[in-house]
Amino acid sequence: MKQGRIVRVSGPLVVAEGMDEAKMFDVVRVSKERLIGEIIELRSDKASIQVYENTGGLGVGEPVESTGQPLSVELGPGLIGAIYDGIQRPLDGIQKIAGDIITRGIEVPGLNRDIKWHFIPKVKAGDIVESGDIIGEVQETTLVLHKIMVPPGISGEIVSIKEGDYTVTETVATIKTKDGQRNLNMIQRWPVREPRPVKRNLAPKIPMFTGQRVIDALFPVGKGGTACVPGPFGSGKTVIQHQLAKWADAEIIVYVGCGERGNEMTDVLQEFPELEDPKSGEPLMKRTILIANTSNMPVAAREASVYTGITIAEYFRDMGYSVSLMADSTSRWAEAMREISGRLEEMPGEEGYPAYLGTRIAEFYERAGRAIALGSDNREGALSVVGAVSPSGGDLSDPVVQATLRVVKVFWSLEDKLAYARHFPAISWLNSYSLYTDELEDFYRQSDHPEWVEMREWARAILQEEADLEEIVRLVGVDALSSDNRLIMETAKSIREDFLHQNAFDDIDTYTSFDKQFQILNLIMQLHNRSAAWLKAGKAMEDLLKLDVKEEIARAKYIPEKEIERFEEIKKNIVSQTEIA
Ligand code: ADP
Repeated sequence: MKQGRIVRVSGPLVVAEGMDEAKMFDVVRVSKERLIGEIIELRSDKASIQVYENTGGLGVGEPVESTGQPLSVELGPGLIGAIYDGIQRPLDGIQKIAGDIITRGIEVPGLNRDIKWHFIPKVKAGDIVESGDIIGEVQETTLVLHKIMVPPGISGEIVSIKEGDYTVTETVATIKTKDGQRNLNMIQRWPVREPRPVKRNLAPKIPMFTGQRVIDALFPVGKGGTACVPGPFGSGKTVIQHQLAKWADAEIIVYVGCGERGNEMTDVLQEFPELEDPKSGEPLMKRTILIANTSNMPVAAREASVYTGITIAEYFRDMGYSVSLMADSTSRWAEAMREISGRLEEMPGEEGYPAYLGTRIAEFYERAGRAIALGSDNREGALSVVGAVSPSGGDLSDPVVQATLRVVKVFWSLEDKLAYARHFPAISWLNSYSLYTDELEDFYRQSDHPEWVEMREWARAILQEEADLEEIVRLVGVDALSSDNRLIMETAKSIREDFLHQNAFDDIDTYTSFDKQFQILNLIMQLHNRSAAWLKAGKAMEDLLKLDVKEEIARAKYIPEKEIERFEEIKKNIVSQTEIA
């Protein structure tokens, strides 16, 4: 293809002329150093290019060459456990070539070319296959069975396929398509800005249990749903993310770290590989992919990283897995957009962000979902997305937060006030919300605990009443409250301390099954109802506070899942201790 030449360099943005053969979103190689960039604006023969590497020292007149291809990722065995930069270059691969300082123009493929994977066919010669069909499997790690699928757009008859050890570039199967024979290897390339196709989208009707009580009970996410969490410093955002990565009902984790302060990303790179998968005892990295942008990487790479991450996540969804993607922080991603937009001299919107900020954020979250994948077996996969936002000064009126809240369905309001009071997880029970509760109702109704729906509403109402009563208490003191209202205050305290409060570092408390969550909340409600009757019969509030069973309820969260029958005993004690003589 014809070469262009640089006419202007402005930070991560390079303008080149003579690019009339190039297309929008083509990947280009800039200068003799062959820096990687992407065309983000084309006007006649002038291309504006965001460059994913440091542009220092580039000068006017240097060559620019289009590859004719959009920014794409490589999908196939070797993804799991990888740590990539924003354009899918493996960090260890770069380091091997360049040492600790990332030099420029380094080309390292996303998937290792040397590893031999053991491929086991799932179809045989003569079988007719369509896009998305699983033709074979590779046990990629002890925790992930990688399904090798027919890439979108290809279908036909299998001519040959054979079990064996292959690198990702070797042919594993040959297909007779209507346009002739095609050799398939284990790599699919996919342009990151384009959602991967599915057969059909499904409503998020199944909760993604996380084992975190405040989330599962009060603010649940549906599988394939979206959530947003702001993270004032020290509010426990990291702990929440680790808990979700470990415990959420998802088989594959994709974590996109978008240029937080440099050392924070280093923390992630050190901490994640140390996390253990609680179900198997294996390292969590055996089902995780990390995309890391440290702040010394150019902003444009940050802009690309969320797309790289979500494309990889979609690929595993297509295999029929439940995938959870976490992006931290999407505010840094939006800032990258703002910087590039500024350099393009676009008309700025609110606070300098581009006018298309909201559209971009919506397009990103819309790639989440539960879906029937391409392929003849109608397998179901889900991709849930949790985005962290970090507005400066914790200001929720920030344009990125507002644009995010317009599209996500769950908001976990992490509050530093609660963290100071050592109430963890510091998710506010008053300011958070989930818009999935209606869609999930059928699921709960058909579960072992159909009463869950009413019980949860009851708990929320008590917490709301507590907040209202607190106003009164502040004005006139607790003694002015009726005994009914004092009971509400007591019960609310129990909901907060015995149920919502959860210690991530306690072996048992760190995870609570749906069944056990039901049991704990049920105890609190039973005691509340019995107490109300007791008070009506003339008993004093002080007697209630002295009941032994209150202590048993407080300890109920430490009952191991295996000993769930112990809840029956506590229920009996509630009844016997509140007998109206
Ligand atoms: P952030 O990432 O928001 O700066 P962290 O996630 O590192 O904050 O949390 C700060 C501290 O709060 C942790 O070191 C831990 O002591 C405490 N903490 C946060 N969440 C929990 C939790 N669920 N259980 C127990 N302690 C927690």
